[in-house]
This record gives sequence, C-alpha cells and structure tokens, in this order.
Amino acid sequence: MDMMKKVPISEQDPKVRATNFDEVCLGYTAEEAMAEASRCLQCKHHPCVGNCPVGIDIPGFIKEIAEGNFEKAAHVLAEYTALPAVCGRVCPQELQCEQKCVRGIKGEPVAIGKLERFAADWARENNVQVGKTKEKNGFKVAVIGSGPAGITCAGDLAKEGYDVTIFEALHEPGGVLVYGIPEFRLPKDKVVKPEIENLKRLGVKIETDVIVGRTVTIDTLLNKEGFHAVFIGSGAGLPMFMGIPGENYNGVFSANEFLTRNNLMKAYRDDYDTPIKVGKKVAVVGGGNVAMDAARTALRLGADVTIVYRRTEKELPARVEEVHHAKEEGVKFELLTNPIEILGDEKGWVRGMRCIRMELGEPDSSGRRRPIPIEGSEFEIEVDTVIMALGTSPNPLIASTTAGLEVNKRGCIVVDENGQTTREGVFAGGDIVTGAATVILAMGAGKVAAQGIDKYIKEKYGQKADA
Ligand code: FAD
Ligand code: SF4
Ligand code: SF4
Repeated sequence: MDMMKKVPISEQDPKVRATNFDEVCLGYTAEEAMAEASRCLQCKHHPCVGNCPVGIDIPGFIKEIAEGNFEKAAHVLAEYTALPAVCGRVCPQELQCEQKCVRGIKGEPVAIGKLERFAADWARENNVQVGKTKEKNGFKVAVIGSGPAGITCAGDLAKEGYDVTIFEALHEPGGVLVYGIPEFRLPKDKVVKPEIENLKRLGVKIETDVIVGRTVTIDTLLNKEGFHAVFIGSGAGLPMFMGIPGENYNGVFSANEFLTRNNLMKAYRDDYDTPIKVGKKVAVVGGGNVAMDAARTALRLGADVTIVYRRTEKELPARVEEVHHAKEEGVKFELLTNPIEILGDEKGWVRGMRCIRMELGEPDSSGRRRPIPIEGSEFEIEVDTVIMALGTSPNPLIASTTAGLEVNKRGCIVVDENGQTTREGVFAGGDIVTGAATVILAMGAGKVAAQGIDKYIKEKYGQKADA
C-alpha cells in the first residue's frame, strides 16, 4: 500500500453513470476504510480539526475505524454532527478538514470525508442508535424550514426534552438536501430520509405545506399557539437572474426550479408526470456546485450540455471533485465567456444565446480577478434551454411579515453570537443568515441556536414549563 496516496474508492463508470441517477461514488468497503484510516498519523496538534466548522474529533473517529470499531466511530461523530452521512458526501473537504491534513504536505491527505461517510453508512445499515433524549420539559419551540439548519436545531432541542414542531413550506422535509442536491450525489431514500425518520423518532413533529408568513405568522406562533421560541432556518432559495434581454423566453430556467422539478418532483422518472422540457442543447450559466448539479442532471436527461462561466477553470467556485466528475461524464466548458442576450424564436422558445469573450483584470472585492468583456468578441451559440445558476438570496417573506427583525442589505437576518435575532425569542441560522453557504455551516448555526434557545427559555421560564 502506498501510504502517500488515498486508498482508491469505487465509482460508477462515467459512461454508465451519465445515463442514470444512481450514486456516483460507491463508498469504501470495511477493509478499504480500515486501510485508509491507518494512514492517519494521529497528530498531537491535529490541524484537521481546527479546519472543520463543527470541530469533529477527526483523529478520534478515524482511530476507531482503523481498529475496526465502527460503532464507536459513529458515536464519536454523533457528539459533533447530526448529519455525518450527508457531510461525508457533500462537505467541501478539500477546503476544510483535508486541506490542513499533515498527510497532505508530502502526499494526499487522509480521506476524512469518505471515512466519515463510511462510519455513518455502517451505523445506519447496522441500526446503531446514537444520541439520547432527556425527559420532556414542557416547552414548545417552532422551527421554520427543514434544511440542515432546521434539522440540527430541532434534533438538538428534542434531545434536550423540548416539544419541537418543524414548519416546512414544501411537501417533503429536507430543504436543499431533497430539492437541490441531486440523487447521484446524495441518495434520498438511503441517506436523507433516514435522517428525517431519526428526527421523528426523537419526537419532532413535522408539518409540511406550511408557509410561515402566509399560512401562519411568527407572531401567531408566539402569541397564540403557545410556542416559547422560534428558530428560522428558511434558507436562501430565491434565484438570481442576469437581467439580460430574453430571460423570459420559454426554456429559460433558474437552476433551483430545474433541480426542484427533478429531485423533489421526480421529473426524471417515467412513473411521475412532472413536466420538464429539457432540449437537445443546454447551456448552464455559472460555475458553482449548483451549476455542476444542474449540468450533470441535464446530461442525464439526454442533453448535450455546456457550462458557460465568465472566469477561468481556476476560479470555478464548485468543488474540484464535482468539476472532475462533470468533465468525465461529458459536460463541456465554455470558459471566459458571458451571455449578453438570450435569443428566441417566433413562438417564444429559446433558440440560442449571444455571448461575449472575457479576460481577467485586477482582483475585485471577492479577491478573484475581475472578468472584463473583450470588445468585438461577441458570438452566438445554438441552444434550446438555458439554466441560470448565478446564486440565490433569502426570500424576504418572513422578515417582511415579522415585526422587529433586522435584516442587512443582502436581505439576510441579523443575529448575535447565540443565534438570537433582534426580536426577543426569535433565533435564526443557516443560509437565511449567511446567504448561500454550505451544509456544515448551516448545521453549525442550527447547533449554536439550539444552545441559545435552551439558555433563553430556561433563564426566562425556569427549568420546566408550568403544567
Ligand atoms: P435550506 O437547505 O435551504 O432549507 C430551508 C428550508 O426552509 C427549505 O426546505 C424551504 O422550503 C423552507 N422554507 C423557506 N421559506 C419558508 C417559509 N416561509 N415557511 C416554511 N418553510 C420555509 N453545500 C455543501 O456543503 N456542499 C454541496 O455540495 C452543496 N451543493 C449544493 C447544491 C445545490 C443545488 C444547492 C442549491 C446548494 C448546495 N449547497 C451545498 C448549499 C447547501 O445545501 C446550503 O447551504 C444548505 O442547505 C443551507 O441549509 P439551510 O438549512 O439554511 O437551508
Ligand atoms: Fe471534514 Fe466536513 Fe466532516 Fe468536518 S464535517 S470533518 S469539514 S467532512
Ligand atoms: Fe490524521 Fe491528517 Fe488529522 Fe493528522 S491532520 S490527525 S494525519 S487526519
């Protein structure tokens, strides 16, 4: 075994997986996981831990895997994270824990994420129950949104004995984990649904199809329905568009709508009748994880797909692994290119896109070199579908229907170090506070807010609610 390199992990063949929605990465076997875990040097200063947003005891759980104690590894993980099977799959590990791994100085870092996934999958497949629940304390907390922030906050509070109800706008709980990230990266039945079932086992009630701000307001929850505190984890699901001519033609989608139709409403399956029109030639505008997910989904629906991105490959914000997988599957890249107009036919359907070539100038406020259009370099590409994956922002509904909630100029709710908003008893966390970010950061924020809510309620009402 070459200790400088990660133990290779099995993946579906690119040609085969480009035609199905099954998971790309097949995960480690027990022997492979133990071999990979044995590469961990158990460093005294473990720099990997400092670069994990929730500070998981990485050498601790890896040591248990190396010794074949998979159940113990799952218990170590459970002390820090509610969703290890999810984070092991979708965390940007190369920029977090693995970036600081000492093994990475001379060779490849330890495959921390893949080992986390292994331990979590093993625990689920072997029905290992992690986490204990305290006696009920009679206090009621409402959680708005069932993404990673809401799931974590609800789970932590339920374990502390709170009576928690999640209100979710969509018909299925899970947030971006169910409607955004596709099946081939994060299997829903295998990984996400069991996490939701775990929450229910802890006693958390989930009311779907409830839009807070419309069906019910935060004021009603606090003043009339007897909730002692509210957590807002409603994410940042409002898509942005470029504001160029032609964005109203039929065949222009936001990536969020496109992915929701596929993932949540199963447009890719013949036994569902969700309408989706994906043409033969699709352009996806953007370079983040959302763009890669939309492109790889369109490819699996049979289209010829090109990513159009205004900077170079080096600046692509998507995870390296996702870009690599997209290329392997046959997604094309038109880099240093920006759309300036979407062209339509006489019936109002997309027929092409006018673009302009770009070059990179001085760094902008994000630290990345600013793309500048090259005069006279306009050209047309023939496409019949355009998917805009330019980022998302928080939906203003909740802030506009709740008195006393301060938002910043990006529309994000402002919170203090305990996750409390400017309205007493109302807490928030995840993408609604940070803008579009990551699963692990949303989870971390849900955890902080759960502690903040516990402290707030007990200081205000005592240890138990009046019977
Ligand atoms: P969300 O997951 O957005 O959940 C919010 C929930 O609140 C939703 O279910 C929504 O329906 C509900 N809601 C909204 N408004 C209301 C309301 N008024 N009333 C009731 N319910 C409401 N992160 C990574 O770490 N790695 C990745 O690889 C990655 N890939 C991504 C791919 C895609 C396509 C997308 C869209 C995001 C990706 N992210 C990734 C980002 C990550 O998923 C988010 O940062 C994370 O899900 C945010 O969690 P959250 O709980 O704050 O919000
Ligand atoms: Fe690494 Fe993410 Fe796991 Fe932390 S949660 S150890 S950053 S994969
Ligand atoms: Fe193990 Fe790498 Fe962390 Fe060291 S830095 S403890 S080798 S995972």
